[in-house]
Amino acid sequence: MSIEDSYARAITSRHLRTGAGAGDTDVLIAAGWTRGNAAQVLWRARAEYDAMPKGRSNCRATERLGVLIRMQSLGQARDAMWGIVQAHAKRTKTDFEQVRLLAISGRLLDTFLDPLCETCLGTRYKPVPNTGRLSATVCSECNGSGARRVIVDDGEAQFTRGVLDELDALLLRVSARMAKYLRERHNDSV
Ligand SMILES: [Zn+2]
Repeated sequence: MSIEDSYARAITSRHLRTGAGAGDTDVLIAAGWTRGNAAQVLWRARAEYDAMPKGRSNCRATERLGVLIRMQSLGQARDAMWGIVQAHAKRTKTDFEQVRLLAISGRLLDTFLDPLCETCLGTRYKPVPNTGRLSATVCSECNGSGARRVIVDDGEAQFTRGVLDELDALLLRVSARMAKYLRERHNDSV
């Protein structure tokens, strides 16, 4: 299997592999997958991804794959992103085929877990080859944002943007809740 195939397999929902039909959203919701706790699961998955030791390879996809396949929370994270994508499709009455939605969900999860631009690694400036130093030139890959772009196929930009905005809002809520919890716990212990 090629790296690309293994990668797609690792990052895409398991529903694609089992060929499960529509109605998955209802199952996820029934299992308590509100969007709020989907965001919480994603948050945890990113923390796990960040904490994993990264192998060294000149191919970022290979490097990422090495991390993904060892992650404990990857399955849950795939389900969580899939739930958010499906709910968004339902709400916006987007009638993409399931296979297309799954691909979008996979790309979103991929970029979510590793959000840094692959060229400048989030530094926003073009690296000088073989020196480990940065040049004074703004990275052209990310236009100096430092962020990795989500790959979008024709006609998917608006939908993908919509999911990203929603995801941002959900994560903001989760982090506010976590900050409040930590604050209260801190107050309890003083
Ligand atoms: Zn960049």
